[in-house]
Amino acid sequence: MSDCIFCKIVSGQLPSTKLYEDAAALAIMDISPIAPGHALLLSKKHYATLIDAPAAELAGLAAALLKVVPAMLKGTGAEGFNIVQNNQRCAGQLVPHLHFHIVPRKPGDGIRFNWSPSPAAKSEISATADAIKKHLV
Ligand code: 5GP
Ligand code: ZN
Repeated sequence: MSDCIFCKIVSGQLPSTKLYEDAAALAIMDISPIAPGHALLLSKKHYATLIDAPAAELAGLAAALLKVVPAMLKGTGAEGFNIVQNNQRCAGQLVPHLHFHIVPRKPGDGIRFNWSPSPAAKSEISATADAIKKHLV
């Protein structure tokens, strides 16, 4: 897409610090890292969100994650990692081009993703499950 910054990074029109590239994916360093080593795995093809991409494309991205994440753990000395994947503005997606955040984690690093879970009534949980399940075909 011509006005998409991640498409421009994939095509080389905009610069990036590259980590890894294959037919499906380009992994780059995030320009505003929330931890040292915070990287982005971009789909090479433009899809706005996860559910816009075909399964075969997602399989390619998963294979790329399996290459990049172990290297990131070794290279940063991180013990763990988060894969964060935002879809649509209400979920925090700022760049509407399919990508995965890879965030290296260390004990006591203090990073928070602002989850605020609260228990719900069993009836509410099962009613919501029913509303979802009727669309699963
Ligand atoms: P989102 O909120 O869409 O899930 O995440 C977008 C991410 O892209 C943010 O973490 C932001 O720092 C990063 N980002 C935005 N513009 C650029 C850019 O031009 N280059 C790189 N490397 N990262 C970018
Ligand atoms: Zn794009």
